[in-house]
Amino acid sequence: MHLKKRVLVTGGAGFLGSHLCKRLLADNCEVVCLDNCFTGSKQNILPLMSNPNFEFLRHDITFPLFIEVDEIYNLACPASPIHYQHDPVQTTKTSVHGAINMLGLAKRLKAKIMQASTSEVYGDPAVHPQPESYWGNVNPIGFRSCYDEGKRCAETLFFDYRRQHKLRIKVARIFNTYGPNMHPNDGRVVSNFIIQALQGKPLTVYGKGQQTRSFCYVDDLVEGFVRLMNNTGDDFTGPANLGNPGEFTILELAELVLKHTGSKSKIDFKPLPEDDPKQRRPDITLAKSVFGWEPTIKLEEGLEKTIPYFKKILESA
Ligand code: NAD
Ligand code: UDP
Ligand code: UDP
Repeated sequence: MHLKKRVLVTGGAGFLGSHLCKRLLADNCEVVCLDNCFTGSKQNILPLMSNPNFEFLRHDITFPLFIEVDEIYNLACPASPIHYQHDPVQTTKTSVHGAINMLGLAKRLKAKIMQASTSEVYGDPAVHPQPESYWGNVNPIGFRSCYDEGKRCAETLFFDYRRQHKLRIKVARIFNTYGPNMHPNDGRVVSNFIIQALQGKPLTVYGKGQQTRSFCYVDDLVEGFVRLMNNTGDDFTGPANLGNPGEFTILELAELVLKHTGSKSKIDFKPLPEDDPKQRRPDITLAKSVFGWEPTIKLEEGLEKTIPYFKKILESA
């Protein structure tokens, strides 16, 4: 009998994790979804609960974990500034102790393991767009450092486990991603703007809104995860940038959100947070050439798919 692949997704009840779990089930995998429900919620995985190939495990990855799986996607970590700055020491622990535990697990099981890293490893980049070879410009002692430096250290651990213990690793550097199941109150720009627009409240643009970001729709990103994990040889570790190279100023995003929600909200300019990167756009040449990945969903199309999710949340609130 052909045994199904059993896959662990840490942070599986979060935004990206819940979409990844759904995709893996559709690919006929057994999925162990692990989460401590800090920012994720059972609501995100409710539709998966009745699937016999799906299992939810409440656990904090800063503690050791002994289960049997074939592959690990390590996504557990709060991703939005207000959440990761709520308990910065726990954020660093999640990235660092969490990576050590998941790598220890992968080592014992000889399992392939993927790390959800971030464009934040480039900090406020002095090179634009950012290729994987750029080492970054990160403040080690600022408010964002628990996240940025935690993720950088996790990457170091992944590469040292590879060098020391021959682990099969994959590192994805994720750029800003949006879509349904985003936490409504996590302060990220896409969710903030859509909710503000739907409620007829002013859109809070930080600074002059001239800073740029590149926004990837979640389905495109999950496709990138799965290809990086499955369609590359064991010699390919990454890091590989995953993101949408379409670059927009925050003000442009605000205007698109107003257009697609049909809202009459005004724009309210607020102070720019400390260490806020001025520009960010992935160079995805590597992902394109190695595993044939590039996003297919344009920002306006993705916003159209995302707005109904927030409408539903507001209606049920
Ligand atoms: P999210 O906050 O929705 O999901 C993270 C999940 O991890 C949550 O369900 C949370 O409860 C869980 N978690 C946090 N600490 C944990 C711990 N110690 N043990 C177990 N579970 C824990 O965020 P997301 O946007 O889905 O991000 C998922 C991953 O992708 C994160 O590692 C994040 O750093 C990375 N990432 C996301 C983006 C993005 O734009 N969404 C960009 C770059 C990187
Ligand atoms: N670990 C785990 N599950 C396992 C194997 C290891 O959580 O199945 C943890 C273990 O508790 C340890 C960490 O992963 O703290 C690193 O494991 P490794 O084998 O690399 O280190 P060691 O146990 O030698 O310190
Ligand atoms: N931002 C904004 N208004 C908001 C939330 C965010 O103008 O209500 C800006 C923020 O200053 C940053 C960009 O939007 O320049 C993206 O912020 P987010 O927190 O979504 O992600 P990150 O800073 O991690 O890229």
